[in-house]
Amino acid sequence: IGGLLKGKRGLVMGVANNRSIAWGIAKAARLAGAELAFTYQGDALEKRVRPLAKELDAAVVGHCDVTDATSLDAVFAEVKRLWGKIDFVVHCIAFSDKDELTGRYVDTSEANFTKSLLISCYSFTAVAQRAELLMPDGGAMLTLTYYGAEKWMPHYNVMGVAKAALEASVRYMAADLGSKAIRVNAISAGPIKTLAASGIGDFRYILRWNELNAPLRRTVTIEEVGESAVFMLSPAARGITGEILHVDAGYHVVGMKNPEAPDI
Ligand code: NAD
Repeated sequence: IGGLLKGKRGLVMGVANNRSIAWGIAKAARLAGAELAFTYQGDALEKRVRPLAKELDAAVVGHCDVTDATSLDAVFAEVKRLWGKIDFVVHCIAFSDKDELTGRYVDTSEANFTKSLLISCYSFTAVAQRAELLMPDGGAMLTLTYYGAEKWMPHYNVMGVAKAALEASVRYMAADLGSKAIRVNAISAGPIKTLAASGIGDFRYILRWNELNAPLRRTVTIEEVGESAVFMLSPAARGITGEILHVDAGYHVVGMKNPEAPDI
């Protein structure tokens, strides 16, 4: 990936700690030559994000809670002040009340449905509205999704519905922004142990199931997602938009349990 993003500038949203997928993408993008800026959500995460940003010589453009349009406007204003324009934006943000990431989807409350869809789906659209203004020469937008958008998964519940909406929004925005040479894509990552994932019921079982049944017989790392993201953000992927790229050790092609896998 050396040099794939040389001379490119990008905003990375959603680093919480060094296990975040956003951090895997940031590390790979930096290796590929990009100059980066980070946002963080709240004071507690600022303490984690600042030292990580320093490791990659990245700028920190401020607190951003995507439910607060003022904070979104403020970080994009800061990016504009810093660089004038950007080449890419990476959105690695999702949230649902932990109590509803277990049990049945049908029991989802209206309040948590609205909040989950707002943070996990609409926020990418809100980001795209602001990023478009900073991409006069075209650019790339990337979000993160999961196979639970396509198929039922235990405990994923309202997040599966939010990811399905997010994937549809990728297609709509790809069509809206294509004439401006702005590409909009998503990576559908296999399960990875992160802060957000720890909120999902029985996550260890999901990881183990993927290890036993994915074609590559393992799960993926944030570094692997990062390198695929570099490709999607780079001119090497200039012919790709509206795409959901699976970086999941091939799990999405599997239709049945591996007969050689032990019971878990
Ligand atoms: P993570 O906990 O490291 O990152 C989630 C981020 O979302 C955090 O940085 C958090 O601050 C941010 N966030 C939540 N609510 C926010 C709000 N209101 N405003 C601003 N930021 C907010 O976990 P992760 O697993 O790296 O998650 C990144 C993305 O990857 C998410 O969209 C997640 O659904 C997706 N994903 C994760 C997996 C997995 O197994 N970990 C698999 C596929 C997709």
